[in-house]
Amino acid sequence: MTYRFAYRRFALPLRVAVRTAHGVMTQREGICVRLESEDGRVGYGEAAPLAGFGRETVEADEAWCRRIGDRVDAEAIVAVPPELGSLARALEVAAATDEAPARHAYLPVAALLPAGRAALEKVEGLAEAGFRTFKWKVGVADAADERALLVDLLARLPAGAKVRLDANGAWDRRIAERWLERCADWPVEYIEQPIAPDMRGADDLLLGLAADYPTPLALDESLAGAGDVQRWLEAGWPGIYVVKPSLVRGLGACLDALERASAKVVFSSALETRLGARAGLRAAFGWPGEVRALGFGVWPLFADGSFDGPALAPFIRAEEMSVDPGEAVWTALS
Ligand code: MG
Repeated sequence: MTYRFAYRRFALPLRVAVRTAHGVMTQREGICVRLESEDGRVGYGEAAPLAGFGRETVEADEAWCRRIGDRVDAEAIVAVPPELGSLARALEVAAATDEAPARHAYLPVAALLPAGRAALEKVEGLAEAGFRTFKWKVGVADAADERALLVDLLARLPAGAKVRLDANGAWDRRIAERWLERCADWPVEYIEQPIAPDMRGADDLLLGLAADYPTPLALDESLAGAGDVQRWLEAGWPGIYVVKPSLVRGLGACLDALERASAKVVFSSALETRLGARAGLRAAFGWPGEVRALGFGVWPLFADGSFDGPALAPFIRAEEMSVDPGEAVWTALS
């Protein structure tokens, strides 16, 4: 199969800057790809590389798109370099001719709280709206101050609610151990990426921490692609795998491997437009196992709300994923 290929690079201002241990993001850059097959079928995909996840950049993606020219075939998609996983995934999505059926009518969503003290003002309103899983970024300020804030935050939660902490790799061993000691007594569902994947000895340290403390750990930045998932499966990772579908080339095979290993998976946003988000959410809806609260509680995200995914709510229904927004997003980017 040969396709006509076109792409649009974009830089969309965010409604509110997103602050994590990786820095501050004020706009989302990415690339929308369009494939038109010989029989006239058109498909779209979104490359959404994220700082801290492998070495992929929008610049490198665009350079590859320029190199491709205006015709691609299956071999050209396979030839996308391994480090450009998000671009390869975008092309896979655009070329796909069928979609996995939804196995769930609706799925719960985790609400993303702002970093720092701002979380305290938000959490009660979100709990009232029905959210029971909250995600809070840590590793942004002093660890002892953040733990004190977390105590205040937990006091505002309804019974049965849980908090996910995401350190985005900001801690060292000593800080991580102090947190894990305290979290043993708190309703913390898991701690995401306590240690940066490129820290020396990170893999052994993560495995050691996961074995030594009761609070589960989750890998996120450590999973920059399908190869990393395979490596951690082989290492017997006992914690959670945070899968950002937009970053995983060969997503179907990767999810099959996770399923065979009975892995605990959390599907998560890479701060895509609704085009990339839909592909990721469809993967979550197709997951046969337990689907934990989706890490897609990120909207409204863009200054131009027409790029946002489903309105933030405690649940997403499968029907909300039925319409392909590819054409509309492509047109809006012109
Ligand atoms: Mg994370």
